[in-house]
Amino acid sequence: MIADIVIAGAGPNGLMLACELSLAGIRPLVLERLPERTQDNRANGLVGQVVRMLDRRGLYERLAGSQDPPRPAHGFVFGALPIDLSVLDDNRFYILQVPQRRIEQMLEERAVELAVEIRRGHELTGFTQDADGVTLQVSGPAGPYTIETRYLIGADGGHSIVRKLAGIAFPGVTTDDTIARTAHAVVPAEFVDPATGGLDIPGYGPIPRFLHHRTERGLFVYAPLPGAPAPLISTTEWNGQDAEGPLTFAELQASAHRVLGVNIAFGPPDGQGPHLMRKLNGGNTRLAERFRDGRVLLVGDAAHVHSAIGGPGLNLGLQDAVNLGWKLAAEARGTAPAGLLDTYESERRPVAERVVMSSRAQSALIAPGSEVTGLRALFSELLGDPRNVRRIADLISGADIRYEVGSDHPLAGRWAPDLDLKDGVRLAELTRDGRPHLIDFTGDDWGYPATAGLPGSAVPCTALLLRPDGYVAWATDVPQPDTASRASLRAAIQRWLG
Ligand SMILES: Cc1cc2nc3c(=O)[nH]c(=O)nc-3n(C[C@H](O)[C@H](O)[C@H](O)COP(=O)(O)OP(=O)(O)OC[C@H]3O[C@@H](n4cnc5c(N)ncnc54)[C@H](O)[C@@H]3O)c2cc1C
Repeated sequence: MIADIVIAGAGPNGLMLACELSLAGIRPLVLERLPERTQDNRANGLVGQVVRMLDRRGLYERLAGSQDPPRPAHGFVFGALPIDLSVLDDNRFYILQVPQRRIEQMLEERAVELAVEIRRGHELTGFTQDADGVTLQVSGPAGPYTIETRYLIGADGGHSIVRKLAGIAFPGVTTDDTIARTAHAVVPAEFVDPATGGLDIPGYGPIPRFLHHRTERGLFVYAPLPGAPAPLISTTEWNGQDAEGPLTFAELQASAHRVLGVNIAFGPPDGQGPHLMRKLNGGNTRLAERFRDGRVLLVGDAAHVHSAIGGPGLNLGLQDAVNLGWKLAAEARGTAPAGLLDTYESERRPVAERVVMSSRAQSALIAPGSEVTGLRALFSELLGDPRNVRRIADLISGADIRYEVGSDHPLAGRWAPDLDLKDGVRLAELTRDGRPHLIDFTGDDWGYPATAGLPGSAVPCTALLLRPDGYVAWATDVPQPDTASRASLRAAIQRWLG
């Protein structure tokens, strides 16, 4: 069998990449070893620029169940320290609370609409590559078979066989000093504060909902997530003893007692379990040395793993997929300018490095001990300054990403601002086809005077070239096209679109 592009793994990032390739006119084949979509849930939400990115593909409304554009969040957390986003005059921080199961279901439905073939119960077991292509060994329900393809994408998660067989090192650290226990559990009704929706525990005090709550002995989370059978309760302890066997409610209760110093009687929700009952020992923070080896590329957890604190995983992985999709499609069509595919790694690996830095910093801030309490007090003071709130918010959302695109306009290389275009059309509605766009604001009917600042930005701009992934490849502020601006636009088109 022959396929243009094969994606190993139908997790969120493999499915997103499949959708992007298909939008760009290349139908990939997706291999997934699980016979059915997993009912396990990992992420409880999307945090940061990924929410805007999904909006720009028309996928946000499918998850949010509303036609309204995303609205900025009022607050979030960094290392279990509350961040007040309402102090920002131009708040661009978005959150969407939605279980990963639902994200995967939506992306699979979208991929099927776009005529992507997904083979479930088909496991990639090996491959070899040469200059012309990749030969895959696959184990399917009817036995082993081979596939010839031009490109293989490893979207096969943190234990990626693609990464291992490609010989790509995965340096980083593995820690074994934490135990995180998580379950859907009923808490005594009298402990729930109807005014805040959080807990108010006699002998302890208030615990806000959704936020990591740190004590000098560990972490506690109370998250009454919409649609869940009962609130999600989670504890994290350091250097604790692991009780043998699967998590029980009694074990969760004992752990919460050690962290908070008070007793809370957790009970199982109504209905059949397993009520999540997850116990994770330690964690990995690792970043692939390279994202590409010849005709083999990595996306998502196959390329990077880190702590789930702050929920950065899908913000990073889904945007890897959107960065790679249009470039790989151009390469497969034979229209890609030289070096385009290499910019996947040169653009996305530094972003992953920043996520690793941020998640390590947050892991330090949530650790137990009085010296960490001191560090947190200092951080809290710093977060009283809106400039620091802006900096942290931009770091965790990824709004500070600026790719090197070869144009010196302040918007070049950045995420294009959310614009309202003519006839009330939002930029996010224009970009759903995943194509590049050249937007000229100088015509009368745009309603933008030639050198007006863009909404949400004080930067004068009269035209911009938008890459398919929503980043600005080129922009200008000249009132009318002149020789220099025409030449720089032509160079940008050649550099990014061939
Ligand atoms: C407890 C926890 C909580 C988290 N919370 C959040 C959160 O709130 N927000 C957030 O953004 N992120 C969160 N994350 C991170 C997020 O879940 C991951 O980043 C995300 O699942 C990675 O997606 P992926 O598609 O790269 O890999 P995966 O989801 O791991 O999918 C890989 C797929 O590849 C398949 N596969 C593997 N090997 C093969 C093979 N050889 N052949 C064929 N198929 C194969 C697997 O079966 C799987 O379906 C959390 C993670 C954990 C563990």
